[in-house]
Amino acid sequence: MPTLPNESHTSQQNRWPDWKWQLRHRIKDASSLQPYFQPTPEEEQAISNASFPFAITPYYASLIDASDPRDPLRRAIIPSIAEQYLGSMAQADPCEEDAHEVVPRLVHRYPDRALLLPTSECPVYCRYCTRSRWVGSTAPPINEDSLLNATQYLREHSEIRDVLISGGDPLLLSDQRISHILSSLSRIPSIDIIRIGTKTATALPMRFTDNLVSILRNFQPLWLQLHFCHPQELTAEVIAACKKLADAGVPLTAQVVLLRGVNNDTSILQLLFRRLIQLRVRPYYLYQCDPVPNAMHFRTSVQSGLTIMKQLQGRTTGFAIPTYVIDAPNGGGKIPLQSSYITSISDSEVVLRNYEDLPYIYPNTNID
Ligand code: SF4
Repeated sequence: MPTLPNESHTSQQNRWPDWKWQLRHRIKDASSLQPYFQPTPEEEQAISNASFPFAITPYYASLIDASDPRDPLRRAIIPSIAEQYLGSMAQADPCEEDAHEVVPRLVHRYPDRALLLPTSECPVYCRYCTRSRWVGSTAPPINEDSLLNATQYLREHSEIRDVLISGGDPLLLSDQRISHILSSLSRIPSIDIIRIGTKTATALPMRFTDNLVSILRNFQPLWLQLHFCHPQELTAEVIAACKKLADAGVPLTAQVVLLRGVNNDTSILQLLFRRLIQLRVRPYYLYQCDPVPNAMHFRTSVQSGLTIMKQLQGRTTGFAIPTYVIDAPNGGGKIPLQSSYITSISDSEVVLRNYEDLPYIYPNTNID
């Protein structure tokens, strides 16, 4: 924990675990990064010119290794000049969420699921964010009228049984507001489960106060989808937050975006997924990075993602392996990607290759 200008070490030490202090002291310019590391001239220029806002909590900045210009968290959160390369394939809204916004702040893109966006604010702004067109904007948090319209729509569409609250990061709202939104949704009889997507577990783990955890426990079944990107994020604070949530009975899953130069390496992902299941967090999705403007330099080929998935298979506990997905362009939804393990199939046998690429013949007895 470096000492910040205008703060005595003791005062800062006392306030560091306060999530509101962390939010108030988010770093938004290059010179304020200096207690943590010296940004390069290119980073300074990229921060000044960034079209997608830059912000990082002091806590998350303290995880960056000052001696390593290729530090994975630094690459994921600190703007780079590569953002200026937009790429001809980039789309501002690749999943066509805006086209499926049925009432303000509510997206209905899948038959039985809906997405509620109560805030555009996040503890950090990931440079690969698929909602960078909106996240970090000046849009205010959802107001009461919009919440009422959203819940009215959900009541009228009883086919929706699962609501994901995401953003922006919903857990940056006050405890009272989170409780109110959860209570409004949980009164709708057709909704079976609520999910919250959040980066706070990694970028602001002190957000999980006793009061917030007790609110989350009260609205079960409520699943938390935690956004991770690298094992370096798994600090004592994050471990404590996950333990607190898991002990309170809150089901935890993890979502990870496959990012060139950050985590596109089998050993890094294997370590991350193994550690997550130790924390009772089930790896859920590994996303192919969407072709959004400013994030094209993070994209890997699908083939290299498939190779990583094949290398994980057979070398890791089955439920530590997430599903590798593409969120299809033009609102096509999530499509799972898997190497084919089937070489040929006939009425009598299936020829398969295992994770080591060894062939196996399996009897295909007709029992239909
Ligand atoms: S926390 Fe999520 S919504 Fe916020 S910037 Fe990162 S990826 Fe985007």
